[in-house]
Parts: sequence; structure tokens; C-alpha cells
Amino acid sequence: MYKIALIGATGSVGNAILRVIDAYPDVFSLHSAAAYSNGEKLIRICKKFGTPKAYLFSPQMGSFKKNDDIPDITVRFGPESLEEMVCDPEVDKVVFASSGVTSLKAIILALDNEKEVLIANKECLIVGGKWIKEHVKYDNQLLPLDSEHNAIWQCLGKSCKPFGVKRMFITASGGPFLNYPLDALPRVTPKDALKHPVWQMGSKITIDSATMMNKGLEVIEASILFDIPIDRIEGIIHPESKIHGGVEFVDGSMQLAVFNPDMFLPALSALSYPQRLDVPVEESPLGFGTLTLERIDPKRFPCYFIALEAARKGEACRAILVGADEEAVNLFIEGKISFGQIPELIEKALDSYSGGEPKSLDDASDLVNVGKKLVKKQVK
Ligand code: NDP
Ligand code: MG
Repeated sequence: MYKIALIGATGSVGNAILRVIDAYPDVFSLHSAAAYSNGEKLIRICKKFGTPKAYLFSPQMGSFKKNDDIPDITVRFGPESLEEMVCDPEVDKVVFASSGVTSLKAIILALDNEKEVLIANKECLIVGGKWIKEHVKYDNQLLPLDSEHNAIWQCLGKSCKPFGVKRMFITASGGPFLNYPLDALPRVTPKDALKHPVWQMGSKITIDSATMMNKGLEVIEASILFDIPIDRIEGIIHPESKIHGGVEFVDGSMQLAVFNPDMFLPALSALSYPQRLDVPVEESPLGFGTLTLERIDPKRFPCYFIALEAARKGEACRAILVGADEEAVNLFIEGKISFGQIPELIEKALDSYSGGEPKSLDDASDLVNVGKKLVKKQVK
């Protein structure tokens, strides 16, 4: 029985992890669960899974108060509680399914405490990847949950080591605006952008998928996870969403990973590693019909190219990119800027940064806030 500590239990990826734990009660148990501030939902999850340990790590407690209704659950509060959670000697696998960069130090602590770490959180990898990787002690101590990276990991024979790899690619469905009239694109509403044709995800990543920033972030994420230069990884549009990632080897052969577009499968394959568990699938995920692969159009999806350019400049611009994008997406969701302004604001934020490279993880984390401020300043 594997004991799982789940950070981000109340979110969309958290839900995929819970579905796996629920489907295989003899293999996994939810040892502890954490959310940022949504105490009500977190307690519902803990009750359902019989989990005695709940953690809410927002510095503010929000509206949630511990009450007598939950005598069997211990709730701990504040950012330090997260560190306690990931170091618990009873835990086997720690899952990072939270958003933002709040969990950066906890990831390193979990690795140092010999835990197997499953990661969906791309912001932490992009901002802190350089430091996180120094703490990974063996292949597969850090396992990718993001579907495209999980696909590549499967193509590499469930390994993060790119032996004999020439190039990698990850796919994108194209989101809601793949065929939308180009001249009307700058004026689409948050409601339009939140209608993803394939995936049900949190709102930030759904907007990032509509702008294709998500694919840019994922190329950076892949280069960190698999130690391969950015320029040997390509994002490719594949509207059927059957192939999720692929690897081309130096001898000209290729491996592609095909599965249904549901985070259940990446969650299952990473959680059950090194085993493979049986899933009752009715139809082959490949199915029949046409499989389309297209290059990403820079006019329609400038954010993809902005992300790659920022990544080539170094660690500082990666952190600025993460902060600037988060701020721009929030402003768009709040109706304060247009869809067309998202790439403009992010590009200007990156261009206006004149500081140096971060010397530590704390420096890198601070630069995320600099990125947010550089966007806010333009909107005032
Ligand atoms: P959601 O918005 O659905 O969930 C976010 C989770 O993180 C919630 O548990 C939330 O807690 C917590 N959270 C919110 N704010 C913060 C914060 N400031 N610091 C730490 N935790 C916070 O997001 P998703 O599940 O969609 O995405 C989570 C991560 O996984 C992101 O990094 C995303 O890019 C990545 N990812 C998502 C995929 C998907 O299919 N959704 C696929 C691959 C990767 P609370 O409820 O208390 O606010
Ligand atoms: Mg993905």
C-alpha cells in the first residue's frame, strides 16, 4: 500500500489523483491532503477518503474555522505546515498538484526526505527547476504528471534520461481559438477562452491553453525534466488529442504515446510506477480516422514564441515570464484587459527587465513578483 500526500487536493489535477486513489483502494491510500484556502472542500475530501491529516497553507486562514464536526481530522495552517506534511516519515509519494510557486521549498524538502515526488506544477519547475534538479537523487525520484511530459516519460521507457534522443515533441489541441477568425481574436471574452474543447482544467491553465502560453511553458518544463535543450523540443498542434508526446531517436526511429485525453491516465501511470495497473478500457484510445499534426502559427499564438524566447535568455526571464503571465491572465479573467493585450503586456514586461540572474531559489521566487509588478505597472 502506497501512502500518498497530495498538495492541491481541491484542484483539477488533485481530482485526477483522487480518482486514481478511489479506483485502487488496495494499492493507494490518501495519507494527507493540502489545499491553499478552500477548507470546506478539503475537509469533504478528507472525510471521503478517511484521511486524518489536512493542511491549509495560505498565510491567511480565510473563512475556514475548525469546528467540532471534524473530530477525526487534524487541520494544520500556514506555509510551514506544508513542510511538516512532506517530511512525514509515513508518506511514500508526495504529489504536487497545486498552482503557483508557493510549494517550491516543499518540493526540495520532499526530495531530500527520500520521497518519490510526482509533479504537475509547472510554475515551480520553470522558476526553480535548476535548483530542484540538484536535489533529485536517482532517475524517477521526480515523476512527470503533466500529460505531455508523462507521455515523453513513457516513450523513454518510464525514465527521465534522454538516452539516444534527437528531438522531442509535445502536442496541443489548439484550444478554443484554433480556427477562430484571426482579426476577431484580440476581442474574445474570458467566457469564450474558458471553453476548452478537450480538457477540463483550472482557469489559469485553460486561458494559457487558449493563448498557447501553456505549450511554451511545457516546452521549458520538458527541457528541465529531461535535461534537453529547448531548441530540440517542439510544440505541435494535434486537434484529435490522441498523441500527447513523442520522442525521435538518433537512429531515426520514433516513439509516440497515445492515450485518452484524461488526467486519470498520467496520474495512474506515475502513481503506480514501477507497476502497470489494469484499467477497464472499452475502446482503443487510438480509434480510427485522421490524425492531424500542424505547426504553431506565430500570428495566432504569439505567446508560445514569447515563452521560448524568454527561456533562451535565462533563469531571470523564466521567472519574470511566469509572474507576468499569471498577472496578465488574472487581469483578463477580471475583465480589465483584452485577450489581445495578454502577449503585449508579457512581452513588454520581459523587455523592461534589466536586472541580473537569480543566485538562489529565493531570488528566483522573488522575480515572479517582479514579473507581476511589471505587468501591473503597464495597466495602471
Ligand atoms: P486548479 O486551479 O484547479 O487548482 C489549484 C490547486 O492549487 C487548488 O488545490 C488550490 O487550493 C491550490 N492553490 C491555489 N492557489 C494557490 C497558491 N497561491 N499557492 C499554492 N496552491 C494554490 O489548478 P489545476 O489543477 O488546473 O493546476 C494545478 C497545477 O497543475 C498548475 O501548475 C497547472 O499548470 C498544472 N497542470 C494542470 C493540468 C490540468 O489538467 N488541470 C494538467 C497539467 C498540469 P484552493 O482550492 O484552496 O485554492
Ligand atoms: Mg499539459
